[in-house]
Amino acid sequence: MPYPAGRHFLQIPGPTNVPESVLRAISAPTIDHRGPEFARLTTEVLEALKPVFRTSGPVIVYPSSGTGAWEAALVNTLSPGDRVLAFDTGHFATLWRDMATSLGLSVDFVPGDWRHGVDPAAVGSRLTPDTKAVCVVHNETSTGVTSRVADVRRAIDEVGHPALLFVDTVSSLGSIDYRHDEWGVDVTISGSQKGLMLPPGLGFNAVSEKALRAAESARFPRSYWDWEPILAANRHGFFPYTPPTNLLYGLREALRLLAEEGLDRVFERHARHAAATRAAVRAWGLEVLCLDEREHSDTVTAVLMPDEYDADKLREVILDRFNLSLGTGLGRLHGRVFRIGHLGHFNDISLAGTIAGVHMGLQLTGVPIDASGIDTALRVLGTP
Ligand code: PLP
Repeated sequence: MPYPAGRHFLQIPGPTNVPESVLRAISAPTIDHRGPEFARLTTEVLEALKPVFRTSGPVIVYPSSGTGAWEAALVNTLSPGDRVLAFDTGHFATLWRDMATSLGLSVDFVPGDWRHGVDPAAVGSRLTPDTKAVCVVHNETSTGVTSRVADVRRAIDEVGHPALLFVDTVSSLGSIDYRHDEWGVDVTISGSQKGLMLPPGLGFNAVSEKALRAAESARFPRSYWDWEPILAANRHGFFPYTPPTNLLYGLREALRLLAEEGLDRVFERHARHAAATRAAVRAWGLEVLCLDEREHSDTVTAVLMPDEYDADKLREVILDRFNLSLGTGLGRLHGRVFRIGHLGHFNDISLAGTIAGVHMGLQLTGVPIDASGIDTALRVLGTP
């Protein structure tokens, strides 16, 4: 293959494109992680994270991926054999269930078709007197479906159940409206590599008072993930181990960018790009995987391929010809869907380029489409 001139289009649903200023921030010289400059950095970043989670409580930062942050939520609050309620909304919900099972939790896994989010109406009847926690993936990155967390919270409250609520926001934080405090979430799990516009490498737990109380009696063995020594060290601006200094420089800059744009405008931008993407998909005559209008993801759109076409073949052609990466179908969706990531450091031109690349790829692979896809997306973008 000749050298592909021009920028790579990284339109998988994370890791996402990292802004230049964030890359430059990360490239600054590493400093003493036990010195006063580092303490100021930690204190600033931990405060600036709170509005992104919409919490006034602590946010814990791990040098980890999102998977580590999942484990941290479970082992800090629960004990071996505890019963948790989870929902089969997609590949990541399944992986989290598998983790909980392998840790020794007893998981009630509500079946799903991977085309809908958590049904809030089903939550109340699935809770049992000994359910200790409810696990919800806010935005299922594998399916492009966003569950209605506020409604899930209401459903738990309606039956007056004391279960903890854990929410995975790995592919929604900083892109889709999310409210840790207002929605009564006990642990919010996230990662750096999607809406926060950073490279992979940071995991997050935002933690409620109730979760901190649960941690006092939780009996899972824990050491590296233990919140307590981290919170104690964070109070003075430090970590109980060597922290990822340069990623924290990047995080400070990414949080500055989000604050400068304003979270509400960030959410509106994501919603517009998602609407334009769905409009293109439908104009092509293809099907969006998500079936409920209330649950369309603003960060990722999963597109079903017509039966006789392989989604990975399409992705391969688009990568080879246009240097554009799209998300593969995960788990049971392998080969059947491709995913367009439209999140993070992303604007109208990025969306137009992405849709044009997919359009040309569909034509090159002989998928019958209506040629109006690109025009339709542009019309949606042009709509005030
Ligand atoms: N949860 C969701 C919704 C995800 O999209 C991902 C990864 O894409 C994860 C959890 C796992 O995070 P990581 O791959 O950073 O461990």
